Amino acid sequence: MVRRDKLHHLPERFPVACQWEITCRCNLHCVMCYTDCFNRPDLIRQELTTPDMLRIMDEMADAGTLELCLTGGEPMIRPDFFHIYEHAIRCGFLVTVFTNGTLITEAAADRFAALRPHRIEISLHGLTKETFERITQGTGSNHRCLDGTKLLIDRQIPLTLKSTAMTLNQHEILAIKQYAASLGSVGYKLGEEMRPELDGGAGPFHYALSEGDLRILNQQDEDLWKESCRQSRTELSPCRSGMQRFHIDAYGKLQLCSGNRRQSYDLRSGSFREGFFEVMPTFACEWKAPLASEPIHPAVSHA
Ligand code: SF4
Ligand code: SF4
Repeated sequence: MVRRDKLHHLPERFPVACQWEITCRCNLHCVMCYTDCFNRPDLIRQELTTPDMLRIMDEMADAGTLELCLTGGEPMIRPDFFHIYEHAIRCGFLVTVFTNGTLITEAAADRFAALRPHRIEISLHGLTKETFERITQGTGSNHRCLDGTKLLIDRQIPLTLKSTAMTLNQHEILAIKQYAASLGSVGYKLGEEMRPELDGGAGPFHYALSEGDLRILNQQDEDLWKESCRQSRTELSPCRSGMQRFHIDAYGKLQLCSGNRRQSYDLRSGSFREGFFEVMPTFACEWKAPLASEPIHPAVSHA
């Protein structure tokens, strides 16, 4: 990602970075997933079409957007995924893809290698097959995820592995981090946040770790502890969502962030410039406060 101090010449309100949930469809059904409740044929049919996606991307590029994160659901499950991805690269965005890794075939890895992403982030919630598939509820998903990871490493695609800490995998987090380190230049991120499901369900919270358990986990590793301390500091920069960052959902709704979808602007019927510069400034977030800590919703939790 572009360092914020390199962007000081930009106006305070400028659409630097977009996180786009391009589908809620997924081939897995992770127990703590907040989008899986929308992984239904009737809702999938309402997701943005390819032409709509390409038009919106063109409008974002025209407005100056630099970074685009394609997430889901599982973004690669869209039959038009590479059409979208390659268009994004050609628009000049720094593209990050959040994926569960299980759909990365030789052919897909070759396409990533031909038009390289800024980074791919793969969710690795367990190191053993038992834990991984207990979480994903997908037989064979552990094997496919590790194979997909290897295909990207072979092509030297910038890669980060990430896990969400929960009751089901807390005993394997340190081993996952060590595994990532053993792969060479592969990064690792630990997410700690559970989110309510998009339909308001509280299912993911059944797997949340207590504050005490999270502290014990983080204290076992210097990097994790450092990051946990950094996130808990109150003097971090204020939330920039809606100012320099924004979110688009699978149906073309422009929103402040993935964690606050209460107000949105329909990019299907309006233009990106109108949505971002004229309508979004009217959106509110009760958790947003000057000099409050950075978003409570880091972009790590999701495949
Ligand atoms: S967490 Fe990611 S991989 Fe798991 S079901 Fe949800 S979208 Fe799919
Ligand atoms: S404070 Fe949190 S919920 Fe509100 S806009 Fe910022 S990131 Fe989103």
